[in-house]
Amino acid sequence: MAPPEEESSGLKETMDSDPDTRPISTIVIIIAMRTEALPLVNKFQLKEDLNPVFPIGVPWVRYCGTYKDLNISIIWPGKDANLGVDSVGTISASLVTYASVLALQPDLIINAGTAGGFKVKGASIGDIFLASDVAFHDRRIPIPVFDLYGVGLREAFPTPNLLKTLNLKVGKLSTGDSLDTSTQDEASINSNDATIKDMEGAAVAYVADLLKVPAIFVKAVSDIVDGDKPTGMEFLQNLLAVTAALDQAVMEVVNFINGRCLSEL
Ligand code: SAH
Repeated sequence: MAPPEEESSGLKETMDSDPDTRPISTIVIIIAMRTEALPLVNKFQLKEDLNPVFPIGVPWVRYCGTYKDLNISIIWPGKDANLGVDSVGTISASLVTYASVLALQPDLIINAGTAGGFKVKGASIGDIFLASDVAFHDRRIPIPVFDLYGVGLREAFPTPNLLKTLNLKVGKLSTGDSLDTSTQDEASINSNDATIKDMEGAAVAYVADLLKVPAIFVKAVSDIVDGDKPTGMEFLQNLLAVTAALDQAVMEVVNFINGRCLSEL
C-alpha cells in the first residue's frame, strides 16, 4: 500500500534538505586579509553585498554571487575601525563565522588564508595544505580537562575524494593570536604535531562545531617559522605570490565541490 500523501512528501522534503544527500548549494569562505580575498572575489565575479546581513556599523564585508551551481559568499572581517589594518586573529574570525552562519545557513565553510609552515615537518613556501585537524597553541590552562578545552582540538570535515583529486598536502594546523612564535607557543605547536600555524583556523573550527556546519581549511605557506628569516618580513615578501597559489587552490576546491554533496567530498 502506498504511504499516506503527507508522510511521503515529508520524507522527500527531509531528503532534499539533507546536505549529505543533495548537492551543496551555499558556501561561506572566511578570509582574514583583503589581499588574500580580493583576487578570489574577482575570479568568482562576486559583488560586495550592499544590503549587508551583518549589524550596521561593523567593518565586516560580504562579497557574494553565484558561481556554477553554488551560492558563494566570501567574508572578510574588514579593517579595524581605529587602526585601519585587516582584522586578523581569532576574535574577528569567530564573530564573522558566527554571524555568517546565522545569516546565510551555509552547507560548508571554507577558511582560506596564508599560514606559517614548519620545514622540519615538510612545509615549503607556496605549498597548499588542507588541514586534517586544528587546535590552539596559546590557550594554556594547566588544570585537568581545562587543558584540553584550551587546546580545542577539532577535526576538519573529511574530504578523501577531494584530496585524491587535487594536489594538496595534508597537515595539522595550529592557531594562535600572534604572528611570531614564542618558545611556549613552539612547545604547544609541537605537542599539537602541527605542520602549519595561522591566526584564525581553530577559531573558525570552534564556531563551525558549535553550530554544526562542516568546515575545511585551505592554507598556503607564506613563511617558514623554523627558517632563518624574520617571519614578518618573509610574510610580506611572499604574500602576493603565495596568495595567487592560494586562490588557484580555492578555485579548484570550489570546482570540485560544485555538483557534489557533502558525503562525496
Ligand atoms: N604583517 C601583516 C600581518 C598579517 S597577520 C600585514 O601587513 O598585514 C598574518 C595573517 O597571515 C593572519 O591572518 C594569519 O592567519 C596568517 N599567517 C601567515 N603566516 C603566519 C605565521 N607565521 N603565524 C601566524 N599566522 C600567520
